[in-house]
Amino acid sequence: MLSLKQCPACQHETWQPVLTARDHLVSGENFAIVKCENCGLLFTNPRPQDDDLPGYYESDEYISHSNQAQTFTDRLYKLARYFTLRQKRRIIEKYHPDSGKTLLDVGCGTGHFLQHCQNNGWQINGMEPHKQARQKAEALTGTTIYASLSDIATQTFNVITLWHVLEHVTDLRGTVQQLHELLQPNGLLVVAVPNHQAYEATKFGSHWAAWDVPRHLYHFDRQSIGKLFATHKMELIATLPMWLDSYYISLLSNQYATGSKKLINSFITGSLSNIYAIKNGNFSSLVYLFRQAATP
Ligand SMILES: [Zn+2]
Repeated sequence: MLSLKQCPACQHETWQPVLTARDHLVSGENFAIVKCENCGLLFTNPRPQDDDLPGYYESDEYISHSNQAQTFTDRLYKLARYFTLRQKRRIIEKYHPDSGKTLLDVGCGTGHFLQHCQNNGWQINGMEPHKQARQKAEALTGTTIYASLSDIATQTFNVITLWHVLEHVTDLRGTVQQLHELLQPNGLLVVAVPNHQAYEATKFGSHWAAWDVPRHLYHFDRQSIGKLFATHKMELIATLPMWLDSYYISLLSNQYATGSKKLINSFITGSLSNIYAIKNGNFSSLVYLFRQAATP
């Protein structure tokens, strides 16, 4: 295990324990989550060594890397994905209406978002470290997918997207700096991550499925992610909801807490989460839109 000596966002050296969550998906192991006393970021600490992390992704149920509908939850997820693909593309086209249409999707998984954008006139580029997912994405899109951001030598992009990816990267500060360098001036950076201030996170506590330890190394909220990107000269221009995540996360959380998905209970909890969030902004997952801050 790797015990971090500094906050992965701000390098502060003191934090407080928050809770311990279980890896329900792969290992059954417990992991502590702590809160930085300076920037407020929650992070998994200690966490597996970098070389051991891929083993925590080896699951038949790790559905963002799977194409075969099996369980009810998988099918629901795929139905949601169909609607979500369109919603995601509309977000980038609304906030990046300029003529440049080069897109980099970081952590593109099996490439469905890339394919959807390709079919709608975008010049697509993808990065995916997981080999099998990368090969599926290459087959789906007919393009070469990068294995690492470091493999992208000189190119810059109009739009860069990370859909539920930033919470997985081993080098948080280094990744944000790379994104800053890969984005064209006035380009758009889109970062979607779970929000631990959501209603259903409080309700489910340590059983909240979006803790997803140890795959999720960081657990963001609006304050901590804003501070992180501000230190890398990225200006937050909008925060948008992902409406369906509260339902999916509630189903999984009930499964983890009780062994049953409790369909009606999950539907009510997911709906309550969205209703509270209309007032306080704390949706289950949030999409943050950043631009390079203008240099004086
Ligand atoms: Zn910090």
